[in-house]
Amino acid sequence: MEDSNDVYNELIMEHSMNSYNKKKLENADYSEIGHNPNCGDEITLELKLNGNIIEDMAFTGHGCAISQASTSIMIDTLRGKTVEDAKEIIKTFIEMIKRETTNEEDLKKLEDAIAFRNVSNMPARVKCALLAWHTLEDMLNKNENGGKGKINCCH
Ligand code: ZN
Repeated sequence: MEDSNDVYNELIMEHSMNSYNKKKLENADYSEIGHNPNCGDEITLELKLNGNIIEDMAFTGHGCAISQASTSIMIDTLRGKTVEDAKEIIKTFIEMIKRETTNEEDLKKLEDAIAFRNVSNMPARVKCALLAWHTLEDMLNKNENGGKGKINCCH
């Protein structure tokens, strides 16, 4: 019998090694770089909004398995969500990693991203797991404050 930790580890491995979310996004509206100097993780997150809906996201970059998998699983979890829902899920993910919530009802919102729950026991990996989520949070907040992260080019 497989316990849930094995399933989660497999999911993390799968996303870290060969993510279909790792690519350039066609017609991205927003782009933001996230950097975790502790580990050397670096990602560029791209976002396409359709009104208030996250239509698509993708990332490029490099880093450890946790940072890459966390970015990819975040993209899967938040694609198709409204910006408000996404912010709520980001907040819950950060609280889970920082062990500020163990409320199972709240954690259900995280879908597959709950796979990173055990990272809260690995202080050296916490920043790796949070990188993409903080990067997206910054991007969404900038968007609200006049779109500083917006890509100013038209092809
Ligand atoms: Zn890392």
